[in-house]
Amino acid sequence: MNIQDFIRDISDFPKPGILFKDITPLLANHEALVSCADQLSSFCPKDVKIDKVIGIESRGFIIGAMIAERLGAGFVPVRKKGKLPYTVKSRSYGLEYGEDTLEIHTDAIVPGEHVLIHDDVLATGGTAKAVCDLVTELGGKVVQCNFIMQLDFLKGKDKLDVPIQSLLTYS
Ligand code: 5GP
Repeated sequence: MNIQDFIRDISDFPKPGILFKDITPLLANHEALVSCADQLSSFCPKDVKIDKVIGIESRGFIIGAMIAERLGAGFVPVRKKGKLPYTVKSRSYGLEYGEDTLEIHTDAIVPGEHVLIHDDVLATGGTAKAVCDLVTELGGKVVQCNFIMQLDFLKGKDKLDVPIQSLLTYS
């Protein structure tokens, strides 16, 4: 099973000049979906108990929840501004044009908890870095950020000072 076979390249999405990595063929194939969640769960350090897995809106929710189930951890959604109903902590980060804001519930992480962050793609790293900062502000410890794929040419890993694991790397 080669996970790469289930990633589809879409030119000029969402903007001209962007080559978007579409994971919906992977999600639609049961074997590929399970394999992806199994492999990402197995990458997790064995010497520490993960308390919470964070999935980043929205594609990070799907496999993030599957990893949480496999690790015996709780699942925490990090969402775009205005989507979470309870009190939140917010973090804004720069995009190519403008900025975006991510939010987490203030009681989602108990101080001292070990946290794994999952998203589908690591690109420039701004998203994952903002989530790492939110976890740290709530007193949690980020054990690892894991991704289905990392786009190495965008140098996202340079922004992160935590261990990173990806199933696929595009250089
Ligand atoms: P970054 O903040 O690292 O530049 O961007 C990562 C975020 O943008 C992730 O939440 C990811 O879902 C989304 N993203 C950026 N590029 C792609 C892509 O080519 N394919 C997919 N599926 N998501 C992308």
